[in-house]
Amino acid sequence: MTATSEFDTIAAVATPPGEGGISIIRVSGDDVFDVVEPLFKGKNLKNVKTHTINYGHIIDPETQSEVDEVMVSVMRAPKTYTREDVLEINCHGGLMATNEILQLVLSNGARLAEPGEFTKRAFLNGRIDLSQAEAVMDLIRAKTDKSMKVALNQLDGSLSRLIKNLRQDILEVLAQVEVNIDYPEYDDVETMTTKLLLEKAQEVKASIQQLLKTAKQGKVLREGLATAIVGRPNVGKSSLLNQLLNEDKAIVTDVAGTTRDVIEEYVNVAGVPLKLIDTAGIRKTDDTVEKIGVERSRKAIGAADLVLLVLDTSEPLTDGDRQLLADTADEKRIIILNKTDLPLKLDMTELQHLAGDTKLIKTSMLQNQGVSELQEEIAHLFFDEGIESGQGNVMVTNARHIGLLHQASKALDDVMTGIAAGMPVDLVQIDMTRCWNYLGEITGDSYQDELLDQLFSQFCVGK
Ligand code: GDP
Ligand code: ZN
Repeated sequence: MTATSEFDTIAAVATPPGEGGISIIRVSGDDVFDVVEPLFKGKNLKNVKTHTINYGHIIDPETQSEVDEVMVSVMRAPKTYTREDVLEINCHGGLMATNEILQLVLSNGARLAEPGEFTKRAFLNGRIDLSQAEAVMDLIRAKTDKSMKVALNQLDGSLSRLIKNLRQDILEVLAQVEVNIDYPEYDDVETMTTKLLLEKAQEVKASIQQLLKTAKQGKVLREGLATAIVGRPNVGKSSLLNQLLNEDKAIVTDVAGTTRDVIEEYVNVAGVPLKLIDTAGIRKTDDTVEKIGVERSRKAIGAADLVLLVLDTSEPLTDGDRQLLADTADEKRIIILNKTDLPLKLDMTELQHLAGDTKLIKTSMLQNQGVSELQEEIAHLFFDEGIESGQGNVMVTNARHIGLLHQASKALDDVMTGIAAGMPVDLVQIDMTRCWNYLGEITGDSYQDELLDQLFSQFCVGK
């Protein structure tokens, strides 16, 4: 749509903040050479070949003092991330040098990039479509290898291709309908046209339903499965947490864009990213204040997609246990029977009665037993149909896409009820077109500016 030349030159640090071997300052736009050249002592960047990396120094043009020894990647449009001219200054890690160079670049004519603005340009310049841009974001945030695979698939455009094919099919049938309407003198045109529309609506709806089936798994992979570990004091919650964390070091993510600065802790269980709720409460060694414990675990249970309820088999059930069993009765839960290395004192008959058909897993955290069965069970609960059940591995993971697919499906329902009610073809056509538009919003073939702003602002700066 918009020509590249309308964009100003933007810059940002593309590497994560903090200490590191190198940092990269990415600069993109029409004026990158004019912005960077005066700061660079080395080859004349304007004359070097594209896609080369060039040694030199960044100098402060006012004082002529050296700021850092750098390598500058020169990538000329259009084969770049943004499809614009891009320079990437690789400097020594560390906040001081990085920030100083960024400041020089900014005072020399570039503007600080907004979060996701490089990717937004890649989209606006037609290099990627919207669902691919979203995949970039998912990749940055991917929490397990499976999440990564789904995002990679999307980045490679498999969802876009599927959606584009559906839209193409709809377009063809709409064109056919137009033709038929233009020749009303033929017999049976109305019947034929209706039949075409109905068949196509059913076909497209079936595809959309298929995609939506993958959405639940997709959402879990993308956002993590909110998991609460509950149980009365001393049953082994902290031990369980440690076992899970030992298997795979927890990934701590800083959730940007939320008002509170929440630190979320993730652990990878057989490819399922568990988002652990209130681990601080479990880590606290003095679980003695029973009342706080109860309130806390109620809150955690309320927020959870999955509850891991831990019981101690070396003691009889207590009222606390019974309360937790009742509080979690309606939740997706797994009951963990811990301390099986000690003599059994828990009344299994009563427990089985209270547990209903909840899966019971016997463990000894002390002897490292049963944890892998637990992990398998968690994976089972969420991926029982197999993780790759989508159409040709296409999985919908994104809440925005899911919403649009539902709307598209609803529009198809309207097509079908319209036909059943004997509505005129041109009205049915309108619903079919609505479906086509909703699908187009997924790939960004039809979009609104607010949507773009909202979407890209979720990226980190420099991407
Ligand atoms: P929490 O209060 O629920 O977090 O329980 P902890 O994980 O802190 O464990 C309480 C005590 O039980 C600690 O002394 C653990 O070493 C012990 N413990 C945990 N799991 C087991 C187990 O499977 N067998 C035995 N014998 N002791 C355990
Ligand atoms: Zn504890």
